[in-house]
Amino acid sequence: LGQHPKGGTSSIRPAGVASILAVASGKGGVGKSTVASNLAVALARAGRRVGLLDADIHGPSQPRMMGVSARPTSPDGQRITPLAAHGVVLMSIGLMLDPAKSVIWRGPMLMGALQQMLTQVDWGALDVLIVDLPPGTGDVQLTLSQRARPDGAIIVSTPQDVALLDARKAMDMFTTLDVPMLGMIENMSYFQCPDCGHEAHIFGHGGVRAEAEKLGLALLAALPIDLETRLAGDAGRPVAAGEGAVAQAYAGLAARLVR
Ligand code: ADP
Repeated sequence: LGQHPKGGTSSIRPAGVASILAVASGKGGVGKSTVASNLAVALARAGRRVGLLDADIHGPSQPRMMGVSARPTSPDGQRITPLAAHGVVLMSIGLMLDPAKSVIWRGPMLMGALQQMLTQVDWGALDVLIVDLPPGTGDVQLTLSQRARPDGAIIVSTPQDVALLDARKAMDMFTTLDVPMLGMIENMSYFQCPDCGHEAHIFGHGGVRAEAEKLGLALLAALPIDLETRLAGDAGRPVAAGEGAVAQAYAGLAARLVR
């Protein structure tokens, strides 16, 4: 990474935020944003003051998943008021940009956007700020790790080897940058047939558990491939806001992470 992790850069950590939790993945499309939004909602339902920062600058999906589309306002022209949905305060670069346009930004601009979303947004007093990172190990992850000093990171992966290969790199990055690894989440772990109850391991069985064990990390949850999860995400009402088995799994995950 070419720079000492604690190398003298100034802090961009919001003052009222008790803990910052990074949700990361090696690859895109593994359900990182889905987990981030559902975990945020589950923590809010458990009575925590929760913020969700969508830092997936190239593919911001939180506005859609959390069901918000309004442009955030800035009453004093300097500080930005975050939006609120499902008991969570929310900011996404996607709310400031034209959703149909691609973002072609270089590293310094990405870092500037992250810095602004942390320092110019009125997050207020929060127990947890969840940061939905872009996939991989780029500038945004590096800046967040070095300058906001997250209290922990969780890695979301699907069970296939190709996803795990990249997840390993992301974990190595956090470890190198002194961000504590809280554990892994296996998403799309299995599919349970709604008719007969049979569990099919579409992407293989136990890949993330085995990897977590090898690295001495906790497997925090194994979440199914679930139609409701996808529909709820698309509809802007995360499945964790409901009452089903997956909502309960997210409640369990929230309880495990914040005691
Ligand atoms: P990432 O943030 O890793 O790119 P997303 O959270 O955007 O991934 O998820 C990609 C797609 O997969 C979305 O359409 C989402 O609704 C769907 N998805 C994520 N997790 C699940 C799941 N457990 N079951 C079914 N669909 C899922």
